Amino acid sequence: MEAILSQQDMKDSLGLSGDGQRLSGRIALITGASQGIGRACAIQLAKAGATVALAARSVAKLEAVAAEITAAGGHAKVYALDVSSEESIKFCTKSVLADLGKVEILVNNAGITKDGLALRMRLSDFEAVLRTNLTGAFLLTQAVISSMMKARWGRVINITSVVGEIGAAGQVNYSASKAGMIGLTKSLAREFASRGITVNAVAPGFIQTAMTEELTEAQRASILTQIPLARYGTDADIAAAVAFLASDAAGYITGHTLDVNGGIYMG
Ligand code: NAP
Repeated sequence: MEAILSQQDMKDSLGLSGDGQRLSGRIALITGASQGIGRACAIQLAKAGATVALAARSVAKLEAVAAEITAAGGHAKVYALDVSSEESIKFCTKSVLADLGKVEILVNNAGITKDGLALRMRLSDFEAVLRTNLTGAFLLTQAVISSMMKARWGRVINITSVVGEIGAAGQVNYSASKAGMIGLTKSLAREFASRGITVNAVAPGFIQTAMTEELTEAQRASILTQIPLARYGTDADIAAAVAFLASDAAGYITGHTLDVNGGIYMG
């Protein structure tokens, strides 16, 4: 008798039922998950089945993101974290490891700007941006990488910026921190490849979030003329790239910086 396959059976037999990005059973820690790109990454990873540890300074905002995820059937837990403090990083990562058992995906997304022309920039503003954006990512990675090594599987995804690739007047501190993240990514990728851990960066262009809200209308219009795809990016554009790099489908990609910038810079 002829077998009648349901559409689902057919999809399963062809391997089409998964999207190649399923993260069921994976544990992900996302820094700066209280808003913007970090929030979008957390939601996307949770949608793909990961349990997400949401970390930032604003616990109330994190609770709101966690509520959104759990209401949609996902799993999320909230952790207070200041990435500019080594003590806070140690406390947060210990709590995540104690609660969830492991961290297999780390998204180093927390970041700040403190813009100013180089000649007038205070050392404190230069160092604060380096400390949060670059040193924070290094310390977070150091704190959770043994957990990935034990699992012989891991993903570190660093959110850098197009500004780290091409520079920006008024952002010596920010661009140095983001260029530093690219070097950090490549060196970590080399150190941990043999342990089944990939380390990649995502370099967003101009994305509509609180960080870019400060631009004037004139600045916005001028930037838009330089973007071949003729629109600003969305946090969902970045989250999609992060979810891909976190997936098994991206298992042969490491040390890479993935530009998600509408074509404003083609490296
Ligand atoms: P955002 O809306 O300003 O969000 C920044 C996030 O980082 C917030 O969740 C904030 O949470 C967290 N954060 C800041 N300082 C922190 C600290 N000391 N400890 C812990 N968390 C901290 O910015 P976004 O646009 O989503 O940017 C996210 C990342 O993408 C940043 O690394 C940024 O540099 C990068 N990026 C953005 C763009 C863009 O166009 N928007 C372009 C390129 C790269 P709390 O305030 O609650 O701590």
